Amino acid sequence: MKGVFPADYHIHTQLCGHATGQVRDYLECAVRKGLKEIGFSEHAPMPIDGFDDWHIRQGDLEFYAQVVQVARGDFPDLEVRIGLEVDYIPGLEPWIEQIASRYRWDYIIGSVHYVGEWDIDNEAKMSRWDHVEVNDLWIRYVELLIKAAASGLFDIIGHIDLAKKFGHRPDIDLVGLYRPFLQLVGERGLAIELSTGGLRKPCRETYPSEPLLRLAADYQVRLVFGSDAHAPEEVGYEFEKAVKMARIAGFQCWTRFTERRPHSVVLPEVGC
Ligand code: ZN
Ligand code: FE
Ligand code: FE
Ligand code: ZN
Repeated sequence: MKGVFPADYHIHTQLCGHATGQVRDYLECAVRKGLKEIGFSEHAPMPIDGFDDWHIRQGDLEFYAQVVQVARGDFPDLEVRIGLEVDYIPGLEPWIEQIASRYRWDYIIGSVHYVGEWDIDNEAKMSRWDHVEVNDLWIRYVELLIKAAASGLFDIIGHIDLAKKFGHRPDIDLVGLYRPFLQLVGERGLAIELSTGGLRKPCRETYPSEPLLRLAADYQVRLVFGSDAHAPEEVGYEFEKAVKMARIAGFQCWTRFTERRPHSVVLPEVGC
């Protein structure tokens, strides 16, 4: 591959309670893998600490930003952004606005994990999938994505087909289902992420799948890359593959975010 890898903008830290390694371990791994830019996107606090067991606590929000800020001082050759992965749940908009105003975040990823009161990607609650209508769940998932994109609260929409994580595929046409959502994302100038996290999960696919990625390219949606690293060695996971996929899908650029402003950057060339 000729050129520099795109930034990895989806990285967690120990503060959420289910990721391993110190912030500087992630930075070291990024340098070792030849990345020039990464960004952290910790699970933002919920309005009630203890809402569930996988978000950082309210009192740790500024501490999180500070830890990343201090660590990056020792890595002058690496651009390090500070962002958040925020759960989109209808009704939480004022809370999300407040979280967004508490620091000069480089970007905010809006992710849908909750459909109703169920976090559908939670391994501990996987058996619930046996009791729902899969098509119906996907339809509700995409409705939430549309609300998230329309809310104006986010720069990036995370892992847009996360509902496939454990292999629960709908038998409705996904390209048709996602068309209004991706059209809206394009119109709003928002980004989606190409997440390699799914490659490590039972679905064994990037989020999103190739057909949805092509549809996103058709609507000129902005693109960022993310590994959803919860361990240092996962930083930049399968990025060469991801860049190739993006190129083949029709993307020429990825998007860099600084203080919530997007800038287009040309993707590296991939050999055939
Ligand atoms: Zn997580
Ligand atoms: Fe997520
Ligand atoms: Fe994540
Ligand atoms: Zn995530």
